[in-house]
Amino acid sequence: MIKKFIRKILGVKKSGHLASDHATPVILSAKDHGINPQLVSANAIRVTQTLQDNGFKAFIVGGAVRDLLTGVKPKDFDIATNATPEQVKRLFRRAFIIGRRFQIVHVMFGQDLLEVTTFRGPSDKAALTDEHGRVLRDNTFGQQHEDAARRDFSINAMYYDPASQTVLDYHGGIKDIRKKTLRIIGVPEERYREDPVRMLRVVRFAAKLQFQIDDTTRAPIAVMAPLINNVPAARVFDEMLKLLTSGHAMACLQQLRKEGLHHGLMPLLDVVLEQPMGEKFVTLALANTDARVQQGKPVSPSFLFASLLWHQVLEKWEAYKAAGEFPIPALHLAADDVLNRQTDALAIQRKVAADMRDIWAMQPRFEKRIGKTPYKMLEHQRLRAGYDFLLLRCASGELDEETGTWWTEFIEGDAETRERLINTKPRTALAAGGAKKRKPRRRGPKKTAAAQE
Ligand code: ATP
Ligand code: MG
Repeated sequence: MIKKFIRKILGVKKSGHLASDHATPVILSAKDHGINPQLVSANAIRVTQTLQDNGFKAFIVGGAVRDLLTGVKPKDFDIATNATPEQVKRLFRRAFIIGRRFQIVHVMFGQDLLEVTTFRGPSDKAALTDEHGRVLRDNTFGQQHEDAARRDFSINAMYYDPASQTVLDYHGGIKDIRKKTLRIIGVPEERYREDPVRMLRVVRFAAKLQFQIDDTTRAPIAVMAPLINNVPAARVFDEMLKLLTSGHAMACLQQLRKEGLHHGLMPLLDVVLEQPMGEKFVTLALANTDARVQQGKPVSPSFLFASLLWHQVLEKWEAYKAAGEFPIPALHLAADDVLNRQTDALAIQRKVAADMRDIWAMQPRFEKRIGKTPYKMLEHQRLRAGYDFLLLRCASGELDEETGTWWTEFIEGDAETRERLINTKPRTALAAGGAKKRKPRRRGPKKTAAAQE
């Protein structure tokens, strides 16, 4: 009865009919879509209910619906509505309008944040794109079917109404979910031109969901990949971070390379992955990250990027030392070089860059296992990150395992154990990599040609 009523209001078709014509959705009832209502956040229901009680349309949309349909508990819930940002803001006590390119409303309940967006309509292309066709600002509101057409993939363009427990599917998303296919909505070339970041999203979703990329969705990527260079670095950084913390980082990076998308994203990443030592280190770091994400533990962007760029730092560090620089200043110069280069390309935020430098700068100090140095290290604010990083260096074969074991015992040990450890001579000479004790030949100039590259 209720279903019939909804169909009548929305003018929608029953599921099981032919595919939607993109203006009228296929509608699926609870028994068709099988979403478990228990997986739906109470706050998301609160938001859709409040909007609906005030006469607006409101649905859970995007990734949350995709996850619900695959039986996964969504990590966050986005809401789409026909209320304008101002109308949304008025209905909630803690609601903030944010964003330039797309205005959205953040509705907060305690720590829980929900993003509420107003249905978007087709944009006025002439006025709002850059010279490559990238859409710059876009706050044109529209109908629900227009909103669906502007979303990226068919599986991300479904709307779930918790009140009636119905799913509205405009672009064959259900079919694609069942076929495990990632398909972009509309003409792929146009969609990548409007927003080249969508190419990175293809990679992320394909790797994360283990979906096949539809042939027409994939075909233009190799040719259009350079368009990513026009995207503001901060946005690329955000997307890279999502990719690396998706729980499938290694699969994502492999897919990025396969699609020819890794060039320019992380300068030298390809080189790093081709060096046996660097590859092992990065692989271990990403495997660790993936495991943490899958266990629901937080991952720190600074640790992640410090790991990805470590072998570039090592290389430059060696070059500065070979040019006569003392080890510690040489490490700082190497860090400067790597960070400057990456900050331009990836817009690593200042705080993240500072933390990365801390993690790197701690490394030579782990190799001083005498006197007061190890005790001072125990008080270091970022000991945990630095120590985890040290363990990665050991596991990758860059340092002797013994150094890691020593530190594990020292950190976990009592006063007596620590004393004993300090007085024990290391079993092996300090290991390879940056650890070799080498007398500086002379104090070199601040920057040398050798160290620049
Ligand atoms: P995740 O699980 O990673 O959060 P998601 O699908 O929710 O996945 P978001 O980046 O949170 O991804 O975006 C929410 C929704 O907004 C998407 O599902 C999609 O419908 C739409 N969207 C996001 N980015 C784009 C884009 N670049 N182009 C078109 N639509 C987009
Ligand atoms: Mg999301």
